[in-house]
Amino acid sequence: MPEVKLSTISKHYDEVIAVDSVNLTVHNGEYVALLGPSGCGKTTTLRIIAGLTLPTEGDVFIDGKHVTYAPPGNRDIGFVFQHFEIFPFWDVWDNVGYGPKLRGLDEIEIEKRVWEALKTTKLTDKADNLPDELNTPELQRVGVARALATGARLMLFDEALGALDPKVKAIFQHELRKIVKKNKLTAIHVTHDQQEAMAIADRIIVMRKGRILQIGKPTELYYKPNDIFIANFLGESNFIEGVVSKVTETGSEIRLRDGSILRTDEKAIKGGRRVIISIRHELLKLQPFERFSALNFIPGKVIGYRFLGDRHSYEVKLDAGEIVGVKEFARAPPPFKLEDPVTVRMDTSLAVLFSYPSNGLAPHLSLE
Ligand code: ATP
Repeated sequence: MPEVKLSTISKHYDEVIAVDSVNLTVHNGEYVALLGPSGCGKTTTLRIIAGLTLPTEGDVFIDGKHVTYAPPGNRDIGFVFQHFEIFPFWDVWDNVGYGPKLRGLDEIEIEKRVWEALKTTKLTDKADNLPDELNTPELQRVGVARALATGARLMLFDEALGALDPKVKAIFQHELRKIVKKNKLTAIHVTHDQQEAMAIADRIIVMRKGRILQIGKPTELYYKPNDIFIANFLGESNFIEGVVSKVTETGSEIRLRDGSILRTDEKAIKGGRRVIISIRHELLKLQPFERFSALNFIPGKVIGYRFLGDRHSYEVKLDAGEIVGVKEFARAPPPFKLEDPVTVRMDTSLAVLFSYPSNGLAPHLSLE
């Protein structure tokens, strides 16, 4: 169960800074996800851990050993890519046995490892099949089996589930996590899919532009994002502008642009400050418009609607100016239609306050 430590790792490609001073410790037996938009440096970080890319600066330690310049073969790592090389004229058994054979193990040990790996990945009945007789999820299982059969205790997954259909993917996420936990492996899983990261990982490392923005358990990142980008990237959030009108012992009141007031449990933001309130779609509820003013009841008009099966998803233009998303459980046909005036009730107990960014909101909402 190896521990992985990255110490101020950077990787430059001419002017491009792919990875920028990354410090990270992945503990023994931990399953972490490296999450972020395309081009944020996830794969480069993973390749540096694997020894496939040399960092420009910094050090890599696996189990306390300095391995920055060690070749991949000396790091005892199992690697699964989305598109991995598979020998087309070899059956599943031989493909899975390739790693242990390369390591010079004897026939009995190879046989044991391949059998175990096929059992774990539910491929025993496919052992004699050629790759072109398998479907995509089965091929992906071969990739995992091959990595397991090497006997490596550290698994690196690079968008390994990226080619799967959503339903198959959900099943595979569950299985992959079970395999890692049952075999007491350490896993680092690169994905740009925030749902996958939340479903699979003990901790998520959110990267943007080569840097780590936040590391935490899925619930910590979801409910306590430390950055507007994360609040936007994980799940679906609304961002409402206001000015702090009152700070009390238990929270703050924020005046929106139409004069309505949102009360949040967060304090420590000075009165008079311009702020952004980040509040998730599922924490908003619609009710028929009523002409009254109360904290956290904000007037608006329905301007969009989508049926999501289990949810009604509305778009509401607030009198304060913002367009917000509202997601409600769909127990019956939608109770509101386009152009309906509504009052949006906001549960602000899990809302997060951010200082208004000096460079405006847009750069923080960009998914780059
Ligand atoms: P994706 O999900 O699209 O693979 P990523 O988060 O894994 O993205 P990386 O592949 O690590 O990102 O790339 C980070 C940055 O480094 C990108 O701007 C990319 O174009 C650049 N980059 C990566 N590899 C090379 C290379 N071999 N030569 C030049 N630039 C590179």
